[in-house]
Amino acid sequence: MNITFVDLKRQYDSIKTEIDGAIANVIGDSAFIGGPYVESFERAFGSFCCTKHCIGVGNGTDALCIALRALNIGRGDEVITAANSFIATSEAITMTGAKVVFVDINPETYNIDVDKIAEKITSRTKAIIPVHLYGQPADMDPILELARQHNLRVIEDAAQAHGALYRGRHIGSIGDIACFSFYPGKNLGAYGDAGAIVTNDDQLSVKARKIANHGRTQKYDHEIEGVNSRLDGIQAAILQVKLNHLLEWTESRRRNAYFYNELLRNADVMTPIEIENTKAVYHLYVVRVKNDCRQKLQEHLKANGIATGIHYPIALPNLKAYAYLGHNAHRDFPEATKASKEILSLPMYPELEKSQIEYIVEKIADFFS
Ligand SMILES: *Cc1c(COP(=O)(O)O)cnc(C)c1O
Repeated sequence: MNITFVDLKRQYDSIKTEIDGAIANVIGDSAFIGGPYVESFERAFGSFCCTKHCIGVGNGTDALCIALRALNIGRGDEVITAANSFIATSEAITMTGAKVVFVDINPETYNIDVDKIAEKITSRTKAIIPVHLYGQPADMDPILELARQHNLRVIEDAAQAHGALYRGRHIGSIGDIACFSFYPGKNLGAYGDAGAIVTNDDQLSVKARKIANHGRTQKYDHEIEGVNSRLDGIQAAILQVKLNHLLEWTESRRRNAYFYNELLRNADVMTPIEIENTKAVYHLYVVRVKNDCRQKLQEHLKANGIATGIHYPIALPNLKAYAYLGHNAHRDFPEATKASKEILSLPMYPELEKSQIEYIVEKIADFFS
């Protein structure tokens, strides 16, 4: 049996008529940049996140950069984030001119270790970017409390967590501002690059929208220099169609995760946990494999037609790109460093079938026996 890591084609096939119609409408109306399709999706996605404002942008990385700039973060400032994320999170910090400050992860949730944030706060710290990695909400309450005590802003990197909940609150509505990616493989994925910023703060919303559109509000009244980062009409129309299916797809992801958990309960891998009173949306289903056998397990699964991934094989502070920070991997980020050698992402998508999960688990059991 061949099982791909994600299956975007299968999802498209299930909504082909709706998607093709939506794309044709945008082209028919020549509503390529801005216009009714973008406005309509912005309203729908803001409402989905329980936020007052939503600004469509070019991609998730831009969303982070623009959010940081809207908060006046730049040269001389420090921004704290998690040691385990995709590089876009830290890249965005550096792009504003600020310094990225990494915090080790909690080995059970793989999210930022909230007990290790305080020791990294200095007089230059301006913000914290918790990442809701793999679709698991970061532990926001202690982060908000630290932010309150030290007068810091909180930017949620929600690129992997569309529709997740933390203690009854919607991911994206908890910090000062939040950033989403609609990269095709994300839980809500466009058919190209796309992203969004959401916030309940009126002023931040105006500022972010201005920065994303060359620093202007009207046609040529540029008040500042911004960037060109816009959600286009075709992507907005596609996302609007897909947003209507997202709850149902999220439930399928969660069902698949719990089915994996159940079948893997006696296997020699650690299955993911959810922190209390949260709804995780399983962008990825990540297990942990001990005793240096991850590579062999991955090869065994591959030989049986099963694709897997590693998110991420090198923790951010250990990347060459951050050698200039002079960190020692094992001393400074022991948990992120250890996890990066043991984590393995199994196939996870709404369309994954029970029989496929059974097959994957059977092959994992074969490997360990
Ligand atoms: C995908 C992703 C981003 C960046 O989004 P793009 O749309 O690819 O620019 C940022 N942060 C995290 C955690 C991501 O997974």
